[in-house]
Amino acid sequence: MPQVEEVAVTPESIARFGTLLGADRMQAAEEAARATVLRLNGRTWWNINSTATGGGVAEMLPSLLAYAQGVGVDARWLVITGTPSFFQLTKRLHHALHGMPGDGSPLGDNERAVYEAVMDDNAGEILEMIRPHDIVLLHDPQTAGLAPVLIRHGATVIWRCHVGADVFNDQTDVAWSFLKPSLEDVAATVFSRQAYVPEWCDPDRTVIIAPSIDAFAPKNQELDGPTIRAILAHTGLIAGELGDGQPLFQRLDGTTGRVERQADVIRQGAAPAWDTPLVVQVSRWDPLKDPVGVMEAFASLVRQGDDLGAELVLAGPNVSAVSDDPEGQETFNAVVAAWHALPDAIRTRIHLASLPMTDSAENAAIVNALQRHAAVVVQKSLREGFGLTVTEAMWKARPVVASRVGGIQDQIVDGVHGLLIDDATDAAAFAAALGKILKDHSLAARLGTAARERVQEEYLGVQHLMRYTDLLKKLEG
Ligand code: UDP
Repeated sequence: MPQVEEVAVTPESIARFGTLLGADRMQAAEEAARATVLRLNGRTWWNINSTATGGGVAEMLPSLLAYAQGVGVDARWLVITGTPSFFQLTKRLHHALHGMPGDGSPLGDNERAVYEAVMDDNAGEILEMIRPHDIVLLHDPQTAGLAPVLIRHGATVIWRCHVGADVFNDQTDVAWSFLKPSLEDVAATVFSRQAYVPEWCDPDRTVIIAPSIDAFAPKNQELDGPTIRAILAHTGLIAGELGDGQPLFQRLDGTTGRVERQADVIRQGAAPAWDTPLVVQVSRWDPLKDPVGVMEAFASLVRQGDDLGAELVLAGPNVSAVSDDPEGQETFNAVVAAWHALPDAIRTRIHLASLPMTDSAENAAIVNALQRHAAVVVQKSLREGFGLTVTEAMWKARPVVASRVGGIQDQIVDGVHGLLIDDATDAAAFAAALGKILKDHSLAARLGTAARERVQEEYLGVQHLMRYTDLLKKLEG
């Protein structure tokens, strides 16, 4: 069985951004694109990560590479394969980069041997595809160990880290001691925030590039009310008939998709009605997203009687589907156990939704509908690299209540584009902020409008590609 999977990407024109960016910025983007194609001069821009579905990187690559291909860049995407023990240790590294111990397992010589073996297994096939002088962007700890062999092969290697800690500690030290030997000779490192750049990175070879969303992808495209209702009713996330709409969406290649599958929802009693205000958090089942804490905050809101009949939906991928996140099942089980322990009156108001992942565009359309239908989107992360779920909700002009951690604090100015909670563990403060938004419709609308403008300015895919273009120019300058 091949170790390495190439994920197909359909080219897409950046012209569709014209309506969102305006003429001047579009012209700048088109000029940058032309210059980049000339600069690459036939070289391929490879992206390598460890999963084709689930999480922020897999979310961004299909669109970014589609637009890059659309302007004439040979942009390609490879996904490596690993063993369960490899993914356990890379998840440990992921937590450590966030400054957290994760499962506390060792990261010593044995783990290095497991890591290197997986790198070796993948490298053979990768070296057959990549030509010397190609540009290779490696994503996250899972692929960092490929850097030395690719550099020896003659490729220009850039490593991008999508996670980081606001404050360095002994855990970040552990992670960097593990990763640094592989990364010393890369041409550049990329981080989502300045605060995440470790001391050993050469400032001249390090750039900050914020992630982005694709406004036209199934995750973020406009959906009208009847379509939202049809998607949510079909998947079982809300009660009742499909209504006048159809559960349809547009795939990245322009064809029409239909939401066929349903969500697996753990609930006691009925699904929420269409007009029930929903508090929604969408995330991988990861302790750092604090799903149990979200339930506690919601329970506190209900106990105070400030909930205005709202119900909570915690939604995430069906845990069997995300191959590089072995912790998912365990976290999901912990959420279900905490849900069972709640009093009946609160439990009936909380819905735990595992979304189908077989068709990633269908999954995206469901997330889109859920975020658009939310009265409030919450992201109660204890740590966060950037927080694309926040960007997605902001783009949909939803009021967001989120922890002041990681990239969330770059996206939201408290009270302007959403509400930030200083202490991510403070359930009462979350409850108060949720109550405030549920009660005050004009506040909700004002935050939502400002949030959308913010994303339009900063976090659409074209801006992201322009920053990669600048990096390439810098490397070759
Ligand atoms: N996501 C999804 N389906 C799910 C749960 C999450 O498509 O069931 C997406 C979510 O919409 C977002 C990405 O996964 O685009 C998560 O990125 P984020 O930066 O929020 O967190 P990460 O998972 O990378 O830590």
